[in-house]
Amino acid sequence: MREHYAETFAIRDGCFRLVADKARRPEHCSEPPAWVGTYQDSKGRAHTVQACDGHRGGLVNARRIDG
Ligand SMILES: [Zn+2]
Repeated sequence: MREHYAETFAIRDGCFRLVADKARRPEHCSEPPAWVGTYQDSKGRAHTVQACDGHRGGLVNARRIDG
């Protein structure tokens, strides 16, 4: 997996992390989401998001999405 892009993220259907493309521009992580949980942003707001296996770190109360 690729490192996520700074602390930028997106609320969307799919993995919430952005990753850097070859030109180091942010793009949405294209890995299939496997987890849903709560992510607290840098301002302390909680968001319910989906994450792939590689980007599960940082989620609170992560639970696996049933196939
Ligand atoms: Zn991801």
